[in-house]
Parts: sequence; C-alpha cells; structure tokens
Amino acid sequence: MRIVIDRLRDKQTLSVEEYRELLACTDAEVTNYLHDEARKVTLSRFGNRIYIRGLIEISNCCRNNCLYCGIRKGNVNVERYRLSKSIILDCCAKGYALGFRTFVLQGGEDVAETDDWVEDIIASIRAAYPDCAITLSLGEKTRDAYLRFYRAGANRYLLRHETFDALHYRCIHPKEMSIENRLQCLQWLKEIGYQIGTGMMIGSPHQTIDHLVQDIKYIERLHPQMIGIGPFVPHRDTPFGNEQPGSVEMTLKLLSVFRLMNPDALIPATTALATLDKKGREHGILAGANVVMPNLSPRADRKKYELYNDKAFLKAEAAEGLSMLRKQLAAIGYEVAVDRGDYQHINNRQTKSV
Ligand code: SAH
Repeated sequence: MRIVIDRLRDKQTLSVEEYRELLACTDAEVTNYLHDEARKVTLSRFGNRIYIRGLIEISNCCRNNCLYCGIRKGNVNVERYRLSKSIILDCCAKGYALGFRTFVLQGGEDVAETDDWVEDIIASIRAAYPDCAITLSLGEKTRDAYLRFYRAGANRYLLRHETFDALHYRCIHPKEMSIENRLQCLQWLKEIGYQIGTGMMIGSPHQTIDHLVQDIKYIERLHPQMIGIGPFVPHRDTPFGNEQPGSVEMTLKLLSVFRLMNPDALIPATTALATLDKKGREHGILAGANVVMPNLSPRADRKKYELYNDKAFLKAEAAEGLSMLRKQLAAIGYEVAVDRGDYQHINNRQTKSV
C-alpha cells in the first residue's frame, strides 16, 4: 500500500481500483503513513500556517428538504432567522478587527433573499473591505445570479456536490433536486471565474466505498481550489435522525488522499469533524488540512443554524475563541495565517474575464 501512497503523492492520481483498496485498508501503519505524507506535502506548500475564514450564517430559511439537513424546509422545530444587511456588516467589522480577511456567507436557499439583495450585500462588503476575500455558500442559483454576485465582488463559492452517484444523490435528497443541476452549477461557477470548492459528507446514509471513489474521481477531474469534507452527523428532526454518524477515521483518510491528489488545495478541518471528536480539528490538520472556519455569526443565532445535532459553535469554533484556536494550533506546531490565503497557482496564472 505504501507504494500506492507514494504514487498518489508523486503523480497525484490513482486508478479506481487503487483508490478503493486504499480506502478499504484498515491497517494503522498504512493510515499513519498516508497522514504523514499528506502532512509533509501541506507543510512543503504552505508551511505551518493555517488559514482562517470567518463564517457568517446569514439565514437558516431553506426551500429545500435535504433528508440529512437540520434546517430542511420540513423541520417545523427550527426557529427561523435571517440576518439583516446591517447585522451582516457588523459581523464583518467584528471579524476584520479579529484579523479575518475572508468572509464566508453561508445559508439555506432562502427565497426571501433575492438576487438583488445578495448582490447589494456583496457590493457593500466589497466596498468596505477591498482587501478581503468574499466567499459564498448559498446553494444552487441561476448562472445569471452567480455572474452578478461575481461582478459585485464575490471571489469564491463553496458548493459541495454531496455525492456524485446519481442514485445515491436521490437517496439523500428530495426528488426536485438532482446531481445534474448541482454539477451544472459548479461548472458555471468555474467558468465565471470563481475559486470553487466542492466536497461531500463522509458516511452519509447508504454511502459505499464505491461512491466515495466516484467522488474522488470527480474531484480529480474538476480540480477545485477548495475541497470541503466532514463526517455526516445525524440531526434528530430529520428522516436520518436515527442513522449512525460518519467515521472520523475515514474522513481523516480522505483529507489525506485529497491533499496528495491536489497539493495546492485549500482544505478545511471542518466543524463536523470537530463536533464528533474534540481533537478533530487538530487531527484534520495533522492529516493535511490547512484551513479552519470559525463562526462569526451573531451568538444568539448560532444555535439556530443547527445542520446536525450538537453542532459545535463555542470555544475554538467561535471567532471570539481565536486565542484558544491559536493555542490549540501552537500545541501541534502550527500558527494562524493572517493573509487572505487565495489559491496561489490559479491566482498567479489566470484572471479570467467574464
Ligand atoms: N445551502 C447551502 C449550504 C448548505 S450547509 C448549499 O446547498 O450549499 C453546508 C454543508 O453542510 C452542506 O453542503 C452539507 O454537506 C453539510 N451538512 C448538512 N447537513 C449535514 C449533516 N447532517 N451532517 C454533516 N454535514 C451536513
């Protein structure tokens, strides 16, 4: 297996069969080797600097009914909220003062947030913070909306494909949603010139190793600038409320695979990982991740953006907890980076006009 890992590191690709073998392998020595090699690649590309992104959860209203998600339309127990423009700008101001230079606006697909409204928010943040990156994670929109947001000043877009396999996609989404549309959106975002991020949950119901291999192969072809993965965590008020959570070990293994496959990618140690394992963030970084996304949302609203049970939003998961985060990172030999942390190669190579 070590030879396979070395080849992944040197050639950044493996065959379907080799990926399957690597994911199925439970030998601890092999796994440790995989993490060590991935960590070395991260250190050689980025040093020991971890990028921070300030996450602002702008709305928990959603028109979709994804079977895994706690803020799905059908969950009547959610206290719904939508941040106003002035509150969003306050969150940015607070984040800027703390040292954040990337703001991530994430939310459900809230029909009350019109394209005009989103465009206006982006333009206002862009005008106030010309030195910051604006990342959006607002789900599926029209090509025209993506283009308008980009022209208003957004730079990056996170849209996990969730699962590449069409049948599996249908098992975890309502029938109105399709993998075709999800992939189309990612294609549009890429064409427009966004730095794009995609990814999936690990251990979502009905997921198999073959599905994960299809996901890896898709991400290999797409070559996104950001790759976000985290374990599935059940939410009590969803149809998957009684399912088992995803595996932390498999998530860490995939973090390392993605690092070796795409050395320059920005890969977060996600909140879901930190929720299932209190050392999850550190383990994620030691497996090759190089981004963390502390929560900048207003404190009173954080618990309402509950995608899954017991989602972490306190202590080092909170933007105010930056000193704790710094300490945790220092304990494993890392520090917080203060710059924007764009995808270096793309940034130097291309400035795409639209
Ligand atoms: N509406 C946006 C943002 C979704 S929330 C969009 O469609 O992209 C961000 C991510 O949280 C999702 O892409 C999903 O992968 C993850 N997520 C949702 N429910 C989850 C759960 N129960 N466990 C783990 N991750 C979950």
